Amino acid sequence: MIQADGLVKTYLVGGSTIRALDGVSFRIEAGEMVAVTGPSGSGKSTLMHILGCLDSPDAGSYVLAGEDVSKLSKDRLAAIRNRRIGFVFQTFNLLSRASALENVEMPLLYAGERQARGRAREALRGVGLEDRMRHEPSQLSGGQRQRVAIARAIVTDPAIVLADEPTGNLDTRTGDEILAIFEALNAQGRTIIIVTHEHDVARHCRRQIAMRDGRIVDGA
Ligand code: ADP
Repeated sequence: MIQADGLVKTYLVGGSTIRALDGVSFRIEAGEMVAVTGPSGSGKSTLMHILGCLDSPDAGSYVLAGEDVSKLSKDRLAAIRNRRIGFVFQTFNLLSRASALENVEMPLLYAGERQARGRAREALRGVGLEDRMRHEPSQLSGGQRQRVAIARAIVTDPAIVLADEPTGNLDTRTGDEILAIFEALNAQGRTIIIVTHEHDVARHCRRQIAMRDGRIVDGA
């Protein structure tokens, strides 16, 4: 599903160069559930941005589902991203004035898909929120908001779900419920990558890729 070879990403800050990714190589097979771990500043977010087709590497190659996406234009990258990747964020990133149903429908409407409402309903049912579809985010608990975000991430049927500290704003019990949802999605065959600095979260994943100073130190 993912083949990364020698990924390099540098940032120029105040005249000096920071190698946020310093030659990162690994493979992730379809159907894996992987945690990307490491201390703050180790390059996790930079890697996620590249894997999520939000940014391109300065060097190295990234093959996603058989297609080399490392040198695509921004527009082409956006098209791949919309089709192949679902995102879940620590802060949920829901539209506050829209209902759960409208939030989940949104990516389908953007993609010009038919039967958006029905598919959004089904996705919300899949995360156990059938009785909260008309609620706005402010009327939902943190765990319920993250369920809406997960429904939104999977409603387009992406090949990969990328989650960035998805339980970071939740208490332990609610976080475990969210991880159980990811495990269920993975059991259905979805490829899931979770960035986290929490050991408890990483333990839910069968494989852990550990980063330090822009390199993979374990799990490649
Ligand atoms: P993590 O997600 O593990 O905390 P990051 O990928 O955010 O790590 O950061 C890796 C390194 O790259 C850090 O030294 C960080 O300061 C630097 N960095 C990340 N993004 C930028 C940016 N947009 N501009 C300059 N430096 C950045």
